[in-house]
Amino acid sequence: MNIILFGPPGAGKGTQAEKLISRFNIPHLSTGNIFRSNIKNQTPLGKKVKAILDDGKLVPDETVVEIVTDELQKDEYQKGVVLDGFPRTVIQATALDKFFSDNGSRIDAFVTLSVPEEELISRILSRGEGRSDDTPEKIKTRLQVYRNETEPVLNHYKKQNLVKVIDGVGSIDEIFDRILKALK
Ligand code: ADP
Repeated sequence: MNIILFGPPGAGKGTQAEKLISRFNIPHLSTGNIFRSNIKNQTPLGKKVKAILDDGKLVPDETVVEIVTDELQKDEYQKGVVLDGFPRTVIQATALDKFFSDNGSRIDAFVTLSVPEEELISRILSRGEGRSDDTPEKIKTRLQVYRNETEPVLNHYKKQNLVKVIDGVGSIDEIFDRILKALK
């Protein structure tokens, strides 16, 4: 089962992804986690993307698409994947669709977590993960980038009838139950 978890920064994609992977026993692929671990380990990729993440901007499509498609070819993803943080632009979505269709696979569900903007900001500021992009100014940039570049991905998948809109306000378990119902 291939699931895309979608939504603005702070919507809870990472938290719900963790619950989905343990329920369905499929791996989690988070582009944000990949970038942060490369930055931490000072790899060439990490050096290339550090300033971009710090600014709250998007890593170039070409780079992200290459990483994700390389990763998805590994054995561990053949049963499925929970994608979190990808695709984030229509170009990435189109590349992902092509990858799945070339490999005789498909997206089973596109789950989008809906959370009001004030709540997103307060969640990010209070989660205290110490991320360099979790400052009020950078959060503003990330929300702007989301609206301009990422939200159009929703329409891309609405056209394919894959979108499940989930109310992302409530307890972690309540939201997870809503996702499970939507996946049935
Ligand atoms: P959040 O959803 O809270 O913003 P993520 O961990 O998904 O956090 O992403 C953190 C940062 O990593 C983004 O602001 C962006 O710079 C980079 N990033 C992650 N995924 C992508 C992607 N698919 N395309 C471009 N940049 C990405």
